[in-house]
Amino acid sequence: MNEALLREIELLRDLGFTHFDLGVGAGFSRPDEVKPLTTQSDLLHELEQIVTACVKCRLAKSRTQVVYGVGSPNADLMFIGEAPGRDEDIQGKPFVGRAGQLLTDIIKAMKLTRDDVYIANVIKCRPPENRNPEPDEVATCEPFLVRQLELIAPEVIVALGKFAAQTLLRTKTPITQLRGRWFDYHGIRLMPTFHPAYLLRNPGDKRLVWEDIRKVMGALGIGGASA
Ligand code: URA
Repeated sequence: MNEALLREIELLRDLGFTHFDLGVGAGFSRPDEVKPLTTQSDLLHELEQIVTACVKCRLAKSRTQVVYGVGSPNADLMFIGEAPGRDEDIQGKPFVGRAGQLLTDIIKAMKLTRDDVYIANVIKCRPPENRNPEPDEVATCEPFLVRQLELIAPEVIVALGKFAAQTLLRTKTPITQLRGRWFDYHGIRLMPTFHPAYLLRNPGDKRLVWEDIRKVMGALGIGGASA
C-alpha cells in the first residue's frame, strides 16, 4: 500500500476512527475523470476538519473555537506556542492578541510575513482562564501537532516560551537554559526562545530573542545571518 495512505490510515486509527465510509457509488474513475492527487495542503485541511470536531478532552466544553493553525502548508519555519488565549479563542486563529502582534513584528523583522511561516500551538483549545494545560490535555492534543509537522515538514521549529519548549522536549529545564540552543523534535531542528507574552512584560529580553532568531535565520539561510 502507498506509504502516505498507510500513515494517514494509522493516524485516523490513532485518533479513534474505526471505519471507512466510501459512500454509495464509490468506484473506479474513468481516466478522463481522474482527480488530481491529494496534496499535503488537502491533507492539512482534512486534519483541520478532524481537529475542529474534536471533543476528546474537557477543553471542548469551554472553548469558543478550535485554534488549528495558520500559514503556509510549505513553510520552512514553524512557530509553536502554548495554547490559545482569549482573543485566539474568539477569532479561531493563533497569536492574534497583543503577544501575537509582537510575534508578527518578529516575523517582519526576519523579512518574512505570517503567510510565509506556519503558526500553531501545542494545545488547540483555550484552557479556562488561561490556566496551564493539564498533562492529559497535552497527551490528547499533541498527536495533532505531530501530524501537522509531518505534513508541513518545516526545516526549523521555534518553540515559543517555557510551556511549548518544555512540553515538546520532555524536560523541566528552565527556558532560560533552553533558549538559544538547538534541539531535535521528531527529526526537525528546534530552537526554544522566550514567549512574546513574556517579552511584553520583560522588553529588555527582546535582545536575547533576537539573538535566537538570528540563529534561526542563519539555519534557514535568510537575511545574511549565520547559524
Ligand atoms: N499564546 C500562545 O501560546 N498561543 C497563542 O495562540 C496566543 C497566545
